Amino acid sequence: MRENLQPDFLPIENWLNNFNYPLIISGPCSAESEEQVVSQAKVLNKIEHVRIFRAGIWKPRTRPHSFQGVGEKALLWMQRVKEETHLLTAAEVASPQHVEACLKHNIDVLWIGARTTVNPFYVQNITDALKGVDIPILVKNPINPDLNLWRGAIERLYMSGLKKIVAVHRGFNTYEKTPYRNNPIWDIPLELKRIFPNLPIICDPSHIAGNRAFIQDISQKAFNLDMCGLMIETHLTPHKAITDALQQITPDQLESLLSKLVFRKEAGSFDFQKILDTLRNEIDTVDIELLNLLKKRMDIVSKIGNHKSKHNITVYQVKRWNTIINERTEMAKKLGLNNDFIIKMLRLVHDESILIQHKIMLPHSKKKKE
Ligand code: PEP
Ligand code: MN
Repeated sequence: MRENLQPDFLPIENWLNNFNYPLIISGPCSAESEEQVVSQAKVLNKIEHVRIFRAGIWKPRTRPHSFQGVGEKALLWMQRVKEETHLLTAAEVASPQHVEACLKHNIDVLWIGARTTVNPFYVQNITDALKGVDIPILVKNPINPDLNLWRGAIERLYMSGLKKIVAVHRGFNTYEKTPYRNNPIWDIPLELKRIFPNLPIICDPSHIAGNRAFIQDISQKAFNLDMCGLMIETHLTPHKAITDALQQITPDQLESLLSKLVFRKEAGSFDFQKILDTLRNEIDTVDIELLNLLKKRMDIVSKIGNHKSKHNITVYQVKRWNTIINERTEMAKKLGLNNDFIIKMLRLVHDESILIQHKIMLPHSKKKKE
């Protein structure tokens, strides 16, 4: 695929019969026993929107002593889920052997986990193992906040002929600490959507949250940002789950969580669109005014830079900067604007102003004349 060529990912409705937005994928973090898998799937089968049953069969665990998943025998349990419910089945694959085993047991959907997306060799091996196979595949974001690794994994799969691709946003491991297990950094999936507008993106609030208390709010945020589904970990007895006990919820809790969510649509009725277009025109006009004002401000900054340069005065003057911050935030407060936002914006504008003046003051600057 040439860079910048827009891939034609298939919309979910093209591969999932009677798909009714949003897509809900649910099931335990790990398959633990046949009884657990089958009985839980039967309960989830009754919940509206739940269409795919997930269960981790091979678990990527940080340390070797931890439970590594029950392995291939769980694929037979997943087959029972298919026979005894209307749900499709999904399992995580991290190697060509996993792919082969899943295909042999007719798993319907595969997913690539965060610890696999992170490594292009692993992704390529999985891609090669899927050559000629037409199966939906979910691609979780890599553990680290690197959009290109996520994008690259999706491109590898697409280039090998897979079109039923869905990205899964499950948060990122960052140095910066947040209340969540994985920092959501929403800008990254939004940027992925900007690059691939027709790529379906769903959210995995369970792995973002790491704690069931946060799952509702994260799920709503995902819908507000135009994601089209959720992968939520559920367990009949979450506190007894072998893996990820803190973040799993019961199927009942899932049902109640879903009933409280507002599912948002990207497009609305004709009247809705008319009003939206009018408001967007107003925004366009304001943005043009903003850009013109910024240009005007930077032109004045250049004049100041030349003036300071001529008189050998420093670019950065802390007193002036403090005055700007105090006066502008005071005014912004009166206007009801968010203080943090205004400070961030002033800082950006100020940094750019310093840079412009600094360039003027470089010894060989041609722009030194006033
Ligand atoms: C999982 O879904 O069980 C899992 C291991 O997720 P992630 O790859 O997002 O950590
Ligand atoms: Mn998990």
